[in-house]
Amino acid sequence: MLPAEQAQILGSVEAFLAKRLPPAEIRRRDAGHVPPYDLLPEMGELGLFALAVPVAEGGLGADWATVALVQEALGQHAYMAASIFNRVVGFGLASIRAHGTAAQRAEMLPLLMAGRAFCALALTEPQAGSDAAAIRTRATRQAGGWRINGRKTWISDAEGARWLILPARTGPEKEGARGISLFLVPTDAPGIAMTPLPKVGNNCMPSFDIGLQDVALPEEALLGQEGQGFGHLMSTLHYSRASMAATVTGAAEAALRIALDHARTREQFGQPIGRFQAVAHRLVDMRLRVDQSRLMVRHLAQLIDAGAPCRREAAQAKIIATETLRDVADAGMQIMASAGYSAESDMQRLWRDSRLYTFGEGANEVLRDTIAREMGLTARGRA
Ligand SMILES: Cc1cc2nc3c(=O)[nH]c(=O)nc-3n(C[C@H](O)[C@H](O)[C@H](O)COP(=O)(O)OP(=O)(O)OC[C@H]3O[C@@H](n4cnc5c(N)ncnc54)[C@H](O)[C@@H]3O)c2cc1C
Repeated sequence: MLPAEQAQILGSVEAFLAKRLPPAEIRRRDAGHVPPYDLLPEMGELGLFALAVPVAEGGLGADWATVALVQEALGQHAYMAASIFNRVVGFGLASIRAHGTAAQRAEMLPLLMAGRAFCALALTEPQAGSDAAAIRTRATRQAGGWRINGRKTWISDAEGARWLILPARTGPEKEGARGISLFLVPTDAPGIAMTPLPKVGNNCMPSFDIGLQDVALPEEALLGQEGQGFGHLMSTLHYSRASMAATVTGAAEAALRIALDHARTREQFGQPIGRFQAVAHRLVDMRLRVDQSRLMVRHLAQLIDAGAPCRREAAQAKIIATETLRDVADAGMQIMASAGYSAESDMQRLWRDSRLYTFGEGANEVLRDTIAREMGLTARGRA
C-alpha cells in the first residue's frame, strides 16, 4: 500500500480512538472491567477488519505492513482496542479464510469484517497449557453431527464471542497432535457453562473457565479436516504472533513516552530527573529496545507480504516485542516511582498488562525451543 494510503488509514484510526477512547474513557473501562465490544461495528465501518482480506473475498486487500501499522497505533493508544482487533484479524479471519468451507466463509467473513461478530480461541485446558497437544476435551460422532465434552480454561473474550474455535480430540489420545480437530462452537449452545476468572491485568479482556457437557453440534461445525486441527492452528500462527508483536510494540512506545514526559517535568534536587544520567540512560535503553522491536515487526510484515516462510521470525518478533514491553513498562514504573504506582496512572495499567504477553499465546521459553529447532539444534518434540 502507498504511504499516502497508509497515512489516511492511520489518520482515521487516530480520529476514531480520540473520539471513542479518550484517556478518561480508557481508565473508566479498565477500572470497571468494561470490554470494548461495543466499538467493533464502528471499527468495521472504518474498514479496519477488511484490511487484510483480499478484494476477491470482499475485503480491502491491504498488505500486512499496513495491518501492522494499524495494530501498532491501536496498541499505543489503547491496548484493549488492539487486543480485540487482533482477535478478529490475527486469529478469526485468518482461521476462517484458511480452513473454512464455502458455507462457513459465506456466513462468517461478512460478519467478522463488519465487526458484528468475532471468534475466541478455546485451546487451553487445565492440564494442557504450553503442551497444547495434551488436550482431553473430546468430540464424538453422533447421528447428524458431534457431541463435545470437556473443559477449557483461560479463554479470553469468550462471553462476547459469537463462536469458539475449539480444538477437541477426535482420535485416540496416543495420536497426540494428530488426533485433534477444530470445531466452530456457538457460545450460546446448550451445555456450555462459563465462569469468569479473576486476574491481575488486561481488565477489558475477560477470561473464562468453560465447561462443555454434551454440547451437540451439526456436521458443518467441523472447521477444516478431521484430525488435522493442530496443524491448522499452527498454519496461521504467524498472523497471531505478528499481531501481538505489533501491538505490544505500540504499548511499549506508550510506556516510553509516559516515562519520558515524567522525566522531563518531575524535578528533584533542583532539576528534572531526566538530567540525571542514571535516568537518561534508562530512557535511552528503552528507546533502543522499542525501536529494535519495531524493526523486527516491520521485517516480519515484509516476509508475510512476500509469502515467505517466517516461523522463526514470527517467534523472534513475539519474543523481542513482549520482552521489550515487559522491561520498558518495568523501567517506566521505576522512573515514575510513586506517580507510576498510583491507580490513576496509565503506567500502572501498562505494567500490569505487560506481564501477560511473555507467556500468553505461547510462552517465550517454548518459542525459544521453536527457534532452536529452526536452527537445527533440537529435534521436534511435543513443545
Ligand atoms: C489472561 C490470560 C488470557 C488467556 N487467553 C487465552 C485464550 O484466549 N485462549 C486460550 O486457549 N488460552 C488462553 N490463555 C492460556 C495461555 O495461552 C497459557 O497460559 C499459556 O499457553 C501457558 O500455559 P500455562 O499457563 O498452563 O503455563 P505452563 O504451560 O504450565 O508453563 C509454566 C512455565 O513452564 C514453562 N514451560 C512449559 N513447557 C516448557 C518447555 N517445554 N520448556 C521450557 N519451559 C517450559 C513455561 O514457559 C512457563 O514459564 C490465557 C492465559 C491468560 C493468563
